[in-house]
Amino acid sequence: MTQDKAEQTLMQGVDETPEEDYRLLIENQTDLVVKVAPDGRFLFVSPSYCRTFGRTKKELIGHAFMPLVHEDDRAATAEAMAKLREPPHTCTIEQRALTVDGWRWLAWSDTAVLDPDGQVSAIIGVGRDVTERKEAEAALAAATRQFELAVEGGEIGLYAASLSPVQMSVDARYLSTLGYAEGELDVDPQTWIDMVHPDDRDRVQGLYERATHGDSDRFEAEYRMRHRDGHWVWIQDRARVYERDSDGRALRIAGTHTDVTRRKVAELKLEYLVDHDELTGLLNRRGVWQTVRRVHVQGLRSGRPCCLAILDLDHFKLVNDAYGHGVGDEVLKWVSEILRREVRQADCLGRWGGEEFVIALPETNEVQARTALERIRESVAAQPLEIKGQEIRVTLSIGFATCHSDEGDPRDVLARADMALYRAKNGGRNRICYDGHDSGVYAVSMAVLVQSALQTARILPAFQPIVDLHDRRVVAEESLARIVAADGRVLAASSFIDIAGQLGLLHRIDSMLLSATAARLKVSGDTASKPLFDFVHLSGDLVRHPDILKTLARELDGISSSSNGAPSVVLTLSERQITAEMEQVARALAPLLDLGCKIAVSDYGGEASSFRFLIHLPVSFIQLDANLVRLASESARARSILATIQHSAQDLGITTIAKQVEDEDTLQRLVELGVEWGSGYLFGPPSDPS
Ligand code: GH3
Ligand code: MG
Ligand code: MG
Repeated sequence: MTQDKAEQTLMQGVDETPEEDYRLLIENQTDLVVKVAPDGRFLFVSPSYCRTFGRTKKELIGHAFMPLVHEDDRAATAEAMAKLREPPHTCTIEQRALTVDGWRWLAWSDTAVLDPDGQVSAIIGVGRDVTERKEAEAALAAATRQFELAVEGGEIGLYAASLSPVQMSVDARYLSTLGYAEGELDVDPQTWIDMVHPDDRDRVQGLYERATHGDSDRFEAEYRMRHRDGHWVWIQDRARVYERDSDGRALRIAGTHTDVTRRKVAELKLEYLVDHDELTGLLNRRGVWQTVRRVHVQGLRSGRPCCLAILDLDHFKLVNDAYGHGVGDEVLKWVSEILRREVRQADCLGRWGGEEFVIALPETNEVQARTALERIRESVAAQPLEIKGQEIRVTLSIGFATCHSDEGDPRDVLARADMALYRAKNGGRNRICYDGHDSGVYAVSMAVLVQSALQTARILPAFQPIVDLHDRRVVAEESLARIVAADGRVLAASSFIDIAGQLGLLHRIDSMLLSATAARLKVSGDTASKPLFDFVHLSGDLVRHPDILKTLARELDGISSSSNGAPSVVLTLSERQITAEMEQVARALAPLLDLGCKIAVSDYGGEASSFRFLIHLPVSFIQLDANLVRLASESARARSILATIQHSAQDLGITTIAKQVEDEDTLQRLVELGVEWGSGYLFGPPSDPS
C-alpha cells in the first residue's frame, strides 16, 4: 500500500469532517501515531514518529516495527498485540524503544481495524513518551522496598512523652535522622514543633491537638523537619495516646519516627508530573483545565469578570524547519520563561499543547486583560533569543474572551478566545484580538478611558527612531499615540484607535500628537542631535477638520521663525483611513504644505493601496506595509513586489521606509532591494511616552 493510500484508509469511515482537518490534526500531534499491518509492518507513521526515531517515512513504511523495540519487551508486545484479535480489539503496551534520544519508555494504546469478516486488517497505535513516569515509579518502588527493609531492620526512631509534667525522650535513631548524636539535642514538645517546616506546622499541630484532647487516640502525620545541616527531612510520625486523665486529656503518648524522604520525593514528583508539562515546567493541559474551571466558577460566583486567553507562536513551523526541533524546544522553554515572568501573580499560565499557551485572568475585565496581554506580547516580540550564536525572534498572536455570567462551560469561553486568535492570525499575527471587540463592556470602558485621556491630556507621543538602513544613522522619528492611564500603565495605539475612530475622536488624538510634536520641535530647536524629520500620523478625521489643521499650521509657523528653518514635520496618510476626494485632501493640507511640511503614505503595499495619493499629492515618503516587509526574507514574490514599488518610488524621487524591521535577514534583503530607510525593534523600540 502506498503511503497516501494508507493515509486515506486511516481517514476513511471516521466521520464527515474534511480529510484536511485530520491530516493537520495528525501532523501537529506530539503523540506518536502509526498504522501497522497485522504482520507488524508500518503502513503509516506520523511526522512526530519520524522525528522521535530520526527516520523518514520512506525508511519506515513497509518495514517491521519490532526491531525498534527493546529485546526484553518484544515478547510482551507480541502477546498484547495477539489479544487485538479478540474483543474489544484494543490493548495497551508499555515498551522501551530506541529513539534519537536513546532508549525511552513509550506507552501505546492500540486499536484493531477489522475487515467485513471480522479479521484484523490493520492496527492503529497512538504512543506517548512516559519515561519520566516510569523512572519515578521505579524510584518509588525502590524507596518503598527500602522502607520495608528499614522496618524489618528496625531503622525506626522511637519517642515517648509525658504531658503533665512535660517530659519527652527520644532514642538515638530519632536523633540520627535529624543529624544529631545522642546527648546533642534535647527534644521537648516545643523544640519538636519549632523544627517542623513552617508550611506543615499548622496541620501537624491540629492533628496533635486532636489526639491529645481526646478526639482520637491515634496521631499520624507526614511532615518535614529541619536537619542539623539545614535541609528538610520528610518524617513519618505514628503515635498513640496510651494514658489519659479523668477529663480525657492525654497524659502519655509514644510513637515512631521514620525518615521517608526518598519515598516522599518520588511521590511528589509523580504528583507533579500528572499536571505539569515536562518541557517547560508549566501546568499541562490537564493542569490548566482544572485551574480554568476553578477561575470560571469563582468568576460566576463573585459576579466579577474574568478572561481567558490563548497564545499561539507565530510561524513556529518555520523555526523548527530553519533550526531543527531541538532549537524549537529551546524557544518554547524560553517563551515559557518570559510568560512566567510577565503574568500577574493571580493569573494562571499553562501550556495548552504544541506551541500554544493559555492564561486565565481572574477578576479582570477586557481593558485590564488587554493591557496585561499587550505587555506580554510586546515583551516576547522585543527580546531576541540567542542559541548557538543565532539570534531568533518570535512573536505571539493572542485571542482572548471574557466569561459571561450565563456561560456554564468554560469550554465555550475558550472556543471564543480561539476564534479571536484566528482573527489575530488573519489580521497579520503578532497582535491581540478580543472576542466581540466592538461590542459590550470592553468598548464602553475603553471609550471612557479614551475620553478621559483626551480631557486630561494623557494621550502622549512615544517616539520611534527611523534609520538609514545603510549605516543605521537615525534620520527621523515617528510619533506614535499612547495613553498613559491614571495608574501609570501605557496602552499602545492598537488597543484604542479603533474605538476612538468609532467615537469620531481620531482628529483630537491626531491634533494632540501634532501639538506635542510641535512643542518638542520648539524645545529641541535646530540642535545637532535632532533627527531631520518628524513623522506624524494624520487620520481621515483630521482631513475633515481644516480649522484644526490651520491652527496647527500657526503653531508650526511659530517654530519655523524661531528656529530659523522650515519645520521638518512629515504628515503620514493612510489610504485605509482617508477616503475623501483628493481635491479635498489637497485643500486641507495646503496650509501645512505651504510651511514646508512633507507627505508620507503609510501601509503601502498593504490591503488598501492604489496610486491615488502618489499621482495627486506631492508625496516624499512611502512607508512600506509591515506584512510585506516581514515577508521580504521568506518570499521571492514579496521581494518582487517590493522591487516594483522601489522602482516607481525611485522614478518619482520618493524615499521608501520599511516598517517593523525585526531581524538582520530582513534588513539584508531590504538593503539589496534598495529600500532606503526603516524602523522597527532591530533599530530601537518606541521611547517611553513622556
Ligand atoms: P501560525 O501559528 O502562525 O499560523 O504558524 P505555525 O507555523 O506556528 O503553525 P501551527 O500552529 O499550525 O504549527 C505549530 C507547529 O509547532 C507544528 C509543530 O511542528 C510545532 N510544534 C508543536 N509542538 C512542538 C514541540 O513540542 N516542540 C517543537 N520543537 N515544535 C513543536
Ligand atoms: Mg498552533
Ligand atoms: Mg503557531
